[in-house]
Amino acid sequence: AAKSQGRGNFQFFSAAMNTATHERLLLESRLWQALEQDEFELYLQPQVELATQRIIGAEALLRWHHPELGMVGPDRFIPIAEESGLILPLGDWVLQRACALLHAWRVPALSHLRLAVNLSARQCHGPGLLPHLDRMLHSHGINPALLELEITESAAMQDPERSRALLIELRSRGIKVAIDDFGTGYSSLSYLKLFELDRIKIDRSFVKDIESDPDDAVIVAATIALAHSLGLEVIAEGVETQAQCDFLRAKQCDEAQGYLFAKPLPVAQFEAMVRATTTA
Ligand code: C2E
Ligand code: MG
Ligand code: MG
Ligand code: MG
Repeated sequence: AAKSQGRGNFQFFSAAMNTATHERLLLESRLWQALEQDEFELYLQPQVELATQRIIGAEALLRWHHPELGMVGPDRFIPIAEESGLILPLGDWVLQRACALLHAWRVPALSHLRLAVNLSARQCHGPGLLPHLDRMLHSHGINPALLELEITESAAMQDPERSRALLIELRSRGIKVAIDDFGTGYSSLSYLKLFELDRIKIDRSFVKDIESDPDDAVIVAATIALAHSLGLEVIAEGVETQAQCDFLRAKQCDEAQGYLFAKPLPVAQFEAMVRATTTA
């Protein structure tokens, strides 16, 4: 009996694993091709200045139109791309698309927009990033201050000395630097001293329960005050309700991003939204 039960468990486990493995294989086997086949797209999520309620920029968020699976979000393929090394050409592609967008935005209605791009750990620590960025900024004739690079705390802390050097190089070019998912790692306070930054992005997990959890409210308010006293700006991510927005504004949070304002949008929809809200 024990033997057959064990066997049953094994079959159950292996069936579940097969589904996960199957999806992974489906993703992995096509991932390299996907770049050549132009299956990736950048979506843009508006970032709003709380004092004026105006859209001041966007975060670029990668989407993959998989021919069999449909639209696949980055949480499902970025980890695979990291492991396989594809993240380097993919990351270069994202930066190139971002710079092309900033170039296209050099028209009065859009020229104020800042564009934030996520960097992966491997991109940060590889040697190709700075030369690629220099080429992209130069060939598209872009004001570096309109480009912001988002680095997670865990990526930065994989190699703190290299990260520190990279951030200095980025900021010497006038490129903005933000720490993404702020508060979810283990070393938030020490790296605020170590790294040169422009902005921190308060993680969605703290914003979610601002109204119901007094601890989260205190943490968010204190984080904003701490960042400001260090000369950093603050953006809150994952803002979904008006009450969250009101709280953040009352605590002097500079900017916010979340479904309350808009989900990540195809480029044309984002641009239409900016035009509609600035002429209104
Ligand atoms: P992230 O950089 O922290 O991006 C924010 C994520 O939160 C996005 O998920 C966004 O769609 C989602 N979000 C925004 N507002 C709300 C909200 O109000 N409620 C909720 N529930 N979610 C909200 P997405 O697009 O699935 O991206 C997931 C992660 O994938 C990103 O987290 C980022 O770490 C990574 N990623 C996305 N694009 C790229 C890329 O081009 N390069 C790299 N290396 N990573 C990327
Ligand atoms: Mg981000
Ligand atoms: Mg984030
Ligand atoms: Mg996140």
